Amino acid sequence: ERQKHIRNFSIVAHIDHGKSTISDRILEATHTVASRDMQAQLLDTMDLERERGITIKMNAVEVHYVANDGETYIFHLVDTPGHVDFSYEVSRSLAAADGAILVVDAAQGVEAQTLANVYLALDNDLEILPLINKIDLPAAEPEKVRAEIEDVIGLDASDAVLASAKKGIGIPELLEQIVTKLPAPEGDLEGPLKALIFDSTYDAYKGVILTIRVKDGMVKPGDKIKFMNSGAEYDVTEVGVNSPHPIKREYLVAGDIGYVAASIKNIRDARPGDTITTVQNGAAEPLAGYKPMTPMVYSGLYPSDNAKYNYLREALEKLQLNDASLEFDPETSQALGFGFRTGFLGMLHMDVIQERLEREFDLDLITTAPSVTYHAFLKDGTMVEVDNPSELPEVGEIEHIEEPFVYAQIMVPNDYVGAVMDLAQRKRGEFDTMDYLDANRVNVKYYLPLSEIIFEFFDILKSTTRGYASLDYEMSGYRPSDLVKIDILLNGDKVDALSFIVHRDFAQERGRLITIKLKDLIPRRNFEIPVQAAIGSKIIARSTIKAYRKDVTSKIHTGDPDRRAKLLDKQKRGKARMKSVGTVDVPQEAFMAVLKTG
Ligand code: GDP
Ligand code: MG
Repeated sequence: ERQKHIRNFSIVAHIDHGKSTISDRILEATHTVASRDMQAQLLDTMDLERERGITIKMNAVEVHYVANDGETYIFHLVDTPGHVDFSYEVSRSLAAADGAILVVDAAQGVEAQTLANVYLALDNDLEILPLINKIDLPAAEPEKVRAEIEDVIGLDASDAVLASAKKGIGIPELLEQIVTKLPAPEGDLEGPLKALIFDSTYDAYKGVILTIRVKDGMVKPGDKIKFMNSGAEYDVTEVGVNSPHPIKREYLVAGDIGYVAASIKNIRDARPGDTITTVQNGAAEPLAGYKPMTPMVYSGLYPSDNAKYNYLREALEKLQLNDASLEFDPETSQALGFGFRTGFLGMLHMDVIQERLEREFDLDLITTAPSVTYHAFLKDGTMVEVDNPSELPEVGEIEHIEEPFVYAQIMVPNDYVGAVMDLAQRKRGEFDTMDYLDANRVNVKYYLPLSEIIFEFFDILKSTTRGYASLDYEMSGYRPSDLVKIDILLNGDKVDALSFIVHRDFAQERGRLITIKLKDLIPRRNFEIPVQAAIGSKIIARSTIKAYRKDVTSKIHTGDPDRRAKLLDKQKRGKARMKSVGTVDVPQEAFMAVLKTG
């Protein structure tokens, strides 16, 4: 009976189509948040999300809605990120929901992540409720978009709500459709407890806090629960829901989405994707869980201060709880000391993790240029996976190298197809097909090397199409490529953290550009520093950092000690993001310089 009044759904869409704003309107319309406490994109609670105006983390909230039939319904809504790097968040939230609201911008129409998210929802057998947003925009063409949803996605959009989240139009219709068109959860209230962990956070007082979807049975404080995959057992101390702030409950039952705390101190015991059950009369089989996510890029993460190594590991473990797609393993670098090889789903993901480590854990980090995972096939018949370019075996041992390719879909107006194809060819792409979305837009499909697409492809794509293109990609497998490793030598010494792998055709040019870049980035010393790029023992490019003649501070008039102190202080602070490699100081930017020479 209670279950009939529950609706669990995710809100999905291409980035910026208005998911978070729709969530705001639902929170308002259901009086979940008092109007004086309302602020735009309320569920984007991280500073980083607010500053960048993007959703990074999913957020599950409970709201209560009195429907036209006079009954009160409980909605658990999950706002999700739209960026391709965070699709793992979306897929985890979908596994906890029974339905999805698909938001499509009335001016932009179906974009690459609209389609990608529809497929994720269909994989989870969810009922999809389309909604056309931003009808207030002068460029809005709701009827054209309605036709596009039907033709391109194949969803019935005849009843799709026409909304403006900004102006509050269409929200009452949406709330009614959620009640009438999305299914109530199914699940056995009496059966043994089965709850899927789909997210978690670490709280210094309560330990790990799990966000769960209860599929069967009930969980309440005092229950002894067991993690079916890790085997760990704990006593539940608290259960509740977020609305949007935590509210304690006496129990959570089949169909509910809420949180569980159990004084869990060992982070490894409580991974998202695991199933919890009760120790007494527990379930026999765990729920399906999640497909493990394979990182797209790896980079080295090193504390500026070597003494912070263990602290960095703890920080990574805590972040991993909150970001199940983060992966890390210890590694050592001759140049940088002890650190971690860390896997990310893309450059934005990498950027976000770095910033969260620095802000939430107050760490100063040195990060090396990201690399994809190469497969090096050796003459002895074995294959090694190389995600750190400095670890590529010697040229003489290698039979051939393969690199990961993606299948990319680029949606773009007709006028820009030529420019997109030029770009894709330049990035070693192989054309597959092209579909018309409507009279003016096409979906261009290419196979492209992951290493070419992941770094700056999207920025160039956006600028060459005046922002009109959208991009989505998925892994499509490995292909042989003529790749070489370029080593960088500073003052004659090879710096392992600066090695990178490129296609042979670009090696000469990239080698030349990187030596010029490094010359400008590395601070002068009182001796000359040669910067060399080499393939094996062959030097392919060289530049020289000139020696400086005098102490910079000696130029400053001695009568102004204040200024002199300020300058010294500035130099000292700059040092935090600098690593001494032999006799040379290498700043953080130098480790990333290789990315900017593509
Ligand atoms: P999300 O990335 O899908 O979560 O999108 P957001 O909710 O963050 O919205 C992206 C941008 O679109 C923000 O600047 C919103 O103010 C704006 N926006 C959202 N809904 C509407 C709408 O109905 N009309 C207009 N004109 N702008 C909207
Ligand atoms: Mg958002």
